[in-house]
Amino acid sequence: MAKGVIIETKSGRMAVTASVLIDATGDGDVANFLGAPWEKGSEKGGLMQPATLFFRLSGVDRKAVDRYISEHPEERHFKTFAKVAKELGEFIPSKHDVLFFYTPRSDEVAVNTTRIHNVDGTNVFDRTKAEIETRRQVRTLVHFFKKYVPGFQNCYLSNTAPEVGFRETRRIIGDYILTKEDVLNVHQFHDNIAQCAYMIDIHDPTGTQLFYTPVPEGKSYGIPYRCLLPKNIDNLIVAGRCISATHEAQGSLRVMPPSFNIGQAAGTAAAIAVIDQVKARDVNVAKLRKMLAEQGQVIDGGF
Ligand SMILES: Cc1cc2nc3c(=O)[nH]c(=O)nc-3n(C[C@H](O)[C@H](O)[C@H](O)COP(=O)(O)OP(=O)(O)OC[C@H]3O[C@@H](n4cnc5c(N)ncnc54)[C@H](O)[C@@H]3O)c2cc1C
Repeated sequence: MAKGVIIETKSGRMAVTASVLIDATGDGDVANFLGAPWEKGSEKGGLMQPATLFFRLSGVDRKAVDRYISEHPEERHFKTFAKVAKELGEFIPSKHDVLFFYTPRSDEVAVNTTRIHNVDGTNVFDRTKAEIETRRQVRTLVHFFKKYVPGFQNCYLSNTAPEVGFRETRRIIGDYILTKEDVLNVHQFHDNIAQCAYMIDIHDPTGTQLFYTPVPEGKSYGIPYRCLLPKNIDNLIVAGRCISATHEAQGSLRVMPPSFNIGQAAGTAAAIAVIDQVKARDVNVAKLRKMLAEQGQVIDGGF
């Protein structure tokens, strides 16, 4: 039975106690420290997706970028520039193309192109290595953009993410393990607490490819409450990308919208457990689903 968590603060070490805990660390840290079972990586070899440090460039002439892309639609990801720069040793990240997004600021883009393989986000030494390597890649990418890509000549680095992002680490083993088949067959469950329509999106754990497998057009699959309940622990609920799922299923539910929805369900379930004085596992699922529906959460059957 978990009692709470120990936290380190400016005022020193403290304990926060609770009758029900929610692990929303993304990595299942609390579940791990409590001895919950978990898995990591692919079925063969336990390989995990690469990590990436996002960064932003300002001073971008986005009109010039748009013009270039509309005249060269096949060069939307600047593959040719990247190839040339790679050959000249001026483009280090192990990725074929350059992925970036416009932000609400008119002269700014957010870049998702750094990449490091074979690092485990639950290992502090790997995390440090990933911070150093991806920050080094940011430098080469800023140089690459300024030198090669139309519209970026006057750009400058305006922000890096506070820390490198890991797409995948621990997945707890819960009362149900969501599978690739559940995702692709858009399976629905009696204890759905959320819906997800996002494709299976796996960045190659060893190479440069992106493996996309869409769910059927216009459909979504259910995420059962049982995936939030780690085996062997009664008063812990897990939320976010570390819920109970296979490597492939996690490749779909790992993104932000399902994580929000799972978090909403975890919080609501914890409140019910406290008020009704029951274990998280014994929460009345009909009541949970009714409350989530009243909150506007889409819990059943697609959109
Ligand atoms: C490079 C990259 C690009 C992505 N692009 C997209 C995208 O375009 N669209 C999309 O929808 N999703 C995207 N994702 C996925 C998405 O960002 C995450 O998978 C999602 O945020 C997972 O949510 P979460 O709540 O499980 O974990 P997180 O958002 O990681 O939240 C976990 C929180 O817990 C904190 N924490 C962790 N461990 C501890 C601890 N031991 N003690 C205290 N605090 C702790 C962390 O600091 C963090 O604040 C991307 C992810 C990456 C890495």
